[in-house]
Amino acid sequence: MEKMPTEDPRVMGFLGSPHMLFIGGKWVEPLRGESFTTENPASEIVLSEIAAGGPDDVDRAVEAARKAFDDGRWSSAAPAERTRLLLRLADVLEAHGDEMAIIESLDNGMPLSSARQRALVGAVESLRYYAGWATKLVGDTSTPSQPGEWLAYTLREPIGVVGLIVPWNSPLLMAVNKLAPALAAGCMVVLKPAELTSLSALRLVQLAEEVGFPPGVINLVTGTGELAGQRLIEHSGIDKISFTGSTATGKKIISAAAGNFKRVSLELGGKSPTFIFDDADLDKAIPAAANGIFGHTGQICAAGSRLYVDQNVFDRVIEGIAEYARALRVGNGMEPETDIGPVISDGQRNRVLSYVDSGREEGAEVVIGGGRIDGPGHFVEPTVFVNTSHRMRVVREEIFGPVLCAAPFDEADTVDSLADRGNDTDYGLSAAVWTRDISRAHRLARRLKAGTVRVNTPLGVDYSMPFGGFKQSGWGRENARTGVEAYTELKSVFVGL
Ligand code: NAD
Repeated sequence: MEKMPTEDPRVMGFLGSPHMLFIGGKWVEPLRGESFTTENPASEIVLSEIAAGGPDDVDRAVEAARKAFDDGRWSSAAPAERTRLLLRLADVLEAHGDEMAIIESLDNGMPLSSARQRALVGAVESLRYYAGWATKLVGDTSTPSQPGEWLAYTLREPIGVVGLIVPWNSPLLMAVNKLAPALAAGCMVVLKPAELTSLSALRLVQLAEEVGFPPGVINLVTGTGELAGQRLIEHSGIDKISFTGSTATGKKIISAAAGNFKRVSLELGGKSPTFIFDDADLDKAIPAAANGIFGHTGQICAAGSRLYVDQNVFDRVIEGIAEYARALRVGNGMEPETDIGPVISDGQRNRVLSYVDSGREEGAEVVIGGGRIDGPGHFVEPTVFVNTSHRMRVVREEIFGPVLCAAPFDEADTVDSLADRGNDTDYGLSAAVWTRDISRAHRLARRLKAGTVRVNTPLGVDYSMPFGGFKQSGWGRENARTGVEAYTELKSVFVGL
């Protein structure tokens, strides 16, 4: 008989083993000897005890990384060597795929199938994609306009020691999406995972150690945002922070960065609009809109949380989305039939439910859902609001849960007026358009203030395409050439001949 995945001996062994900090190539206890526990959000069962790194541990990690950077053991290594090790890490991660997926599902609550197909496959692809960039980072030559004979060229150099701060919604993928380009560019990293989901980062760093990255190149400090994270963002030995998480923490990072003008990349939240016109292929648009907000329990920065639908098909679309929500099996991610898991914590569930209450109080109408699901685990019902207006908090603020706010539009609306509605937000991460009118689709795509616009497709993220936000959705772009160049400084060299 097949064993229950939670009985997997490798996973059980890992969960029960000590989880320390990785600094300068060694697993070490935190200086203050403190720890915290991590639980499975679907069962509330404690999975592991994890070292709580403090400010002094961050100092040690930065020192180790600085030493490694200064002696060039990685930054001056042949780019092909960086490619080789990143590809090896991809192979080893793939070979440990089942184990990693179980760890991710247990710690984050996501369905095991998503952990396998999305998180794990995505992380392996990310490593392979960025491995290729290590040998392709090049400068340009140029012909200066000044009189005389010159050789002028640019160099791309690794930025130095970078702090990578990762959220809990997709822990492995987010960690790898920062680690891989940083390492490809020749940087040293200090990785700080979210305190709610540190396990996959711990296992990843164990695998990186096996692969043989030189000591000090990858450092891991687990701990709270308040202590370990705050020290990292303030530290004068950090040259760049790459962060994914809340807008509130993003603002703290911007002010802390002023100390030494460290470079900052921010991938923050969103309140992304979806537009469905009456000529759209509704068989595709309806499930895409539903999955866009209920998938991953709505804990996705690019979730399509605002929906604008042509009045002619509004009732049909809302009924289709409600039907999709009714059929979703909400449960423990380790059960094979589960479609969506819990939200990450009791605090997050209370936050989602308080938004639902505020929506009701402000006059929105719940079509489906709107409540908690009892039992152990932090479960909430997929929820759809209609009768929403742009003044409501549920429409303006990021909820980060499975809550959709829908509103109709009619023939008086133009591409410009719809773009204004879509842009009426502090955020600008993503937008989706469903229509067969190609001119309307492209005009709307141009007018929307969003880092990514999807037209007639749920696809909105690919390593070959930049990803990031306008306005308060962030600074900079991840993925593609721009994602790896973000870990470099550009130097201009003038030579008189
Ligand atoms: P958060 O921003 O507090 O946490 C994200 C990461 O930042 C974690 O690793 C955390 O330890 C770290 N952190 C927290 N405070 C820090 C500080 N002062 N200095 C340095 N690092 C710090 O997010 P949260 O409180 O876990 O979630 C709150 C809300 O943020 C969510 O409800 C959601 O709206 C949003 N969020 C967005 C994303 C995203 O992908 N854009 C991810 C997670 C959360």
